[in-house]
Amino acid sequence: MPDIQDVLWFDTDRCLIGGTWVEPASGDTLPLTNPSDGSELVRIARGGIDDINGAVTAAQMALGGLWGQRSALERGRILTRIGQLVLERVEDLALLEAMDVGKPLGQARADAIALARYMEFYGGAADKVHGETLPYLDGYTVYTLREPHGVTGHIVPWNYPMQIIGRSVGAALAMGNACVLKPAEEACLTALAFANICLEAGLPPGALNVVPGLGAEAGAALSGHAEVQHISFTGSVRTGALIQQAAGRNVVPVTLELGGKSPQLVFDDADLDAALPFLVNAGIQNAGQTCSASSRILVQRGVYATVRDRMAKEYDALSVGPALQDRRVGPLISDRQKHIVEGFIARGMDLTIVGQGTLIDAPETGSYVRPTLFADVPPDHALARDEIFGPVQVIIPFDTEDDAVAIANGTDYGLVASIWTANGARQMRLAKALKSGQVFINNYGAGGGVELPFGGVGKSGHGREKGFEALYGFSTLKTVAAYHG
Ligand code: NAD
Repeated sequence: MPDIQDVLWFDTDRCLIGGTWVEPASGDTLPLTNPSDGSELVRIARGGIDDINGAVTAAQMALGGLWGQRSALERGRILTRIGQLVLERVEDLALLEAMDVGKPLGQARADAIALARYMEFYGGAADKVHGETLPYLDGYTVYTLREPHGVTGHIVPWNYPMQIIGRSVGAALAMGNACVLKPAEEACLTALAFANICLEAGLPPGALNVVPGLGAEAGAALSGHAEVQHISFTGSVRTGALIQQAAGRNVVPVTLELGGKSPQLVFDDADLDAALPFLVNAGIQNAGQTCSASSRILVQRGVYATVRDRMAKEYDALSVGPALQDRRVGPLISDRQKHIVEGFIARGMDLTIVGQGTLIDAPETGSYVRPTLFADVPPDHALARDEIFGPVQVIIPFDTEDDAVAIANGTDYGLVASIWTANGARQMRLAKALKSGQVFINNYGAGGGVELPFGGVGKSGHGREKGFEALYGFSTLKTVAAYHG
């Protein structure tokens, strides 16, 4: 097994401010824990308000200097180059993510490839966003300009650091913003690695600044900073609300990607062979620590017993172990998260567990939870309503299409929903009826395509990232009306 020191090619206990890796003003560091065995991996900087202030000033200088002068074409070329360097480093990035997040190596590798793909997509898109000319009164010429916000703040969680940095920092840089990135205190190695790669690729100093640290310190300083013009946040509903409040005091727009309780609806006429892998995988990928995890499986009575038994069999075959052993499921991010998930499983003890995975070579000091499948769960039970953020799924029976929609729409969230049915008219009806930012028909997640706008309704958040939609979100529209008679 590789040691973290064999993989690291940079110092981990620094902040990147204005193109230079510096110690945090406090001089303090924080430990990063390996969730697979509970050991300390490395120490990271404990950035705070002074470091955030320095990072915002550096970003402003970049906008007034080298970065602000880059054309859209030049910005795109730099992003494309970053993507190429990420691809050259895929194995290192995957190892870092696996050790830091506890994510099975194969899943971490897919995230590194996705990061490269985001850079490729936004590199290509940078010079393809434009304003419009508008017909108006005689004697006028009216047009719109798409301009960057200025300094953008990016507060990122620990579950998919590379994908979330790719979609938010990639889009923000493509539009010509200068970014201040606050990675999560639980997992920030690939954020640091990515910033190193950006410098190597020729991104001008200050265009991307990285300040690791605690949410209540570095995160709060960034979200409350008066000179930041846009905040992009992915994480919990509770923290999202705090960030929206802080940004609101400065009248700064926010994009919030929060949690979910995403359902998959399986009808009697569904192709079960096609559906089965998605039903389970969407619940256990990254040990269920995914905002778009599908934690509710709604099944029509006619196929209910079949789906339940086939899912149960898959659960019983799930292996759980250290990230570098690349089993189906790894540990959770921390003991804290493990206790939260175990608490949910305990609350389901009045319910029926029909399938559970098995721990293999899983050290007692790691944060492991056995993936657990509950059946016949009432829609108003806590396990069917609350976000668990662990490898736990519930199966809920339904009779009619209307029942299915009512159950699916019966939570505070609305991130992803999927429909498994061969009936085209039903597909179209439900795509409209479901309260969700994304609806997938006979698939789940559409392969995570970077082209597809992504975001929630209700408590799942607002604003859209990914695709071209993110470029509109990371820019502002100026209307120019010229009177020339
Ligand atoms: P969190 O929302 O508290 O943390 C996410 C990011 O926000 C981190 O970078 C953190 O440092 C920062 N942050 C925390 N408090 C802040 C504050 N007051 N001001 C500014 N930034 C702040 O999430 P968590 O505590 O790591 O996880 C708790 C729960 O959140 C999980 O159980 C899960 O339900 C949910 N979660 C959701 C996602 C998602 O992708 N939607 C990701 C991670 C966690």
